[in-house]
Amino acid sequence: MKTQRKIAKLISPTPVSDGAGVKLNRLIATPTLDYLDPFLLLDHFGSDNKDDYIAGFPEHPHRGIETVTYMLKGKVTHRDTMGNEGTISAGDIQWMTAGGGLMHEEMPVAEEEGLSGFQLWVNLPKKLKMTKPRYQEIKADKIPVYEKDGAKVKVIAGEVGDVQGAVTEIYAEPNYLDVTLEPNAEFTHPIALGHNAFAYIFDGSADFDESGNFAHNPRLVILTDGDFVKIKAGENGARFLLVSGKPLNEPIARYGPFVMNTRAELYQAIEDLQNGTFVWTEEKEVVTA
Ligand code: MN
Repeated sequence: MKTQRKIAKLISPTPVSDGAGVKLNRLIATPTLDYLDPFLLLDHFGSDNKDDYIAGFPEHPHRGIETVTYMLKGKVTHRDTMGNEGTISAGDIQWMTAGGGLMHEEMPVAEEEGLSGFQLWVNLPKKLKMTKPRYQEIKADKIPVYEKDGAKVKVIAGEVGDVQGAVTEIYAEPNYLDVTLEPNAEFTHPIALGHNAFAYIFDGSADFDESGNFAHNPRLVILTDGDFVKIKAGENGARFLLVSGKPLNEPIARYGPFVMNTRAELYQAIEDLQNGTFVWTEEKEVVTA
C-alpha cells in the first residue's frame, strides 16, 4: 500500500535583505521554518528593478554546505577561490559543494528583463563537511526534460520516469524538479519514504494533495511523509519547484554562511578566516583526514 503525501504546512515568503542589500523572499531559514533537514535555506531572489539586486553578494565564505543556484531570468556572474568563474543565465543551474571552505562572489547583472532565481542550501553530513569543494554547472540546454499529459518537468536532480537528472552524486540523494503544468493537468511523482519534501509554487495555483484546496503563488508547501505526491494544476496552470532529500539527522550549528555540527567548529571557521587559513587546500585535507 503506497501512501500519498499531503500538505503538512503552507508558508508565505518572508521579505528580507541579504548580501550587500539584495531584496529577496525567504522561504526556509526564517522564524517560521528554521530548516527542513537536509535543506537549510531557500531564497527566491529577483526583481524588475535593478536597485533591488545590483549590490549583489560580494566576496564571502561558505563551509559545510552546498549552495544551489537556479536561474529563471537575468544573469549572475560568479567567481570562487577554486578558480571557477562564469555567468549563469535563465535555466542554468550551479550546484556548488563548499565543503571545507571557499570564498566566492555572486553578482547579478542589470538586464532589461530583470532578475529571478532561487538559491537552496543543502546540508553536508559530518563526514563530508570538510571535503574538497566541488562545482557542477549545467547550462539550460543540458537539463533533461520530461513531458507527459500536460506536465513539463526540467529534471535538475533525481529522476522522473526514465529521465535522469543533470546533477548527480549528491549525498542527500536530492530530487530537484522545475515543474510546469498546463491548466488542470496532473502530475504524480514518487518520493522516497522518509525523505523530506517541499514544493514552492511561484506561478499559478495547484492542489498538492487532492484535497480540493488550491495553493496560490507564492507559497512554500511542506509535504508529509509518504511514497508519492499527486498534484493538480488550477485553471491557469502552475509552475513550481518540487524538491526532496534524505534527512541527515545530525546536530546543526549555523552562523551565517557556515553550517557545522558544533559551536566549536563554527569558532574554528571564524578563526580560520581571521588567520587567512579558511580556504580548503590539499594539505589541510591530508592533515584532517
Ligand atoms: Mn554564496
